Amino acid sequence: MKRIRSRKIPHALLFTGIDGIGRYQTAVRFATTVNCTGRTAIRIDSSDPGTLNERDDAPHFPVCGTCPSCKKIITGNHPDILHIKPAGSAIKIDQIRSLRNTLSLKPYEARHRVAILERAQEMTIPAFNALLKILEEPPERTTIILIANKSSDLLPTIVSRCQQIRFAPAPDDQIARSLADRQGVGMKRAHIAAAMAGGSFDVAKKMASNQWQRQRDWMLNEMTLIGQGKPKNGKVSIRRTMALAETLTNDRQMLDNVLVAIKSWLRDLSLWPFMPEDIINLDMATQIGKLASAIDADTFFTGFTAMDTIEKQIRANANPRLALETYFIKLTHNLSASGGSG
Ligand SMILES: [Zn+2]
Repeated sequence: MKRIRSRKIPHALLFTGIDGIGRYQTAVRFATTVNCTGRTAIRIDSSDPGTLNERDDAPHFPVCGTCPSCKKIITGNHPDILHIKPAGSAIKIDQIRSLRNTLSLKPYEARHRVAILERAQEMTIPAFNALLKILEEPPERTTIILIANKSSDLLPTIVSRCQQIRFAPAPDDQIARSLADRQGVGMKRAHIAAAMAGGSFDVAKKMASNQWQRQRDWMLNEMTLIGQGKPKNGKVSIRRTMALAETLTNDRQMLDNVLVAIKSWLRDLSLWPFMPEDIINLDMATQIGKLASAIDADTFFTGFTAMDTIEKQIRANANPRLALETYFIKLTHNLSASGGSG
């Protein structure tokens, strides 16, 4: 990640990257740095409460953390650090108009005012245009920070007026270490959560929780049982998959969690013959190895790709029961068609 090198404070910044990798925390850190009145502004990475600068490679904005300005910003009580996020489905024009009014006045007390716009990609077109007006005539002593997933989600005219900083997904090892050091998660669990999180600290934290782990354990045990089902017990498997579909239809949050778990488990099954040491679900290595050796390559390449399509339907559907049933039947078929003699 590149650092902000210029001594001049930029009028507009754009932080892009996936959710949960520290873009917002870095924006707050930036606001703290440009306003810190501490005489010896020092890095506080190691004494951090854990909410700021979780990444090793995030821009290091030095702050003292103890001056009145730092304290106000860190606790979210500074009148000149403005936070804007979608009201309902989007950031609307009224919000940007109100921001414009505020920015037309002098800052209350800040040396440098900062407006942070979260999920900036979720903005109505009129709001985008109103924002463009602000960026065209940037208010003095003010930085506007847009936080978005990709710059292509924003109007090019907006992007061209911002200094962009791209936040790469964090490496699994770094996430696992952070979970272990800061959240007290055991290393084995930390590695599993990190590997499933796609580079996001926030997602990894969620996946290291007891509830998530319980749901994942339950689902993967069910999967193993389905995989071990003898072909002549096909009826039992069907009944089991129907019950699974019903349970998951009634619990949307659990459904989201277990779909991620199943995906990682299918990935592991496919990976096992080539790189067994690289599987995610290390605690289930024995079961995965046994099952993987009974599945032929054809099933991996054709059967499991089809699962992706059904998974999208499940996620998009308000009542996913039918898609879920199809999903599990297909999965059962794929697993048992190729042996699964358990
Ligand atoms: Zn300070």
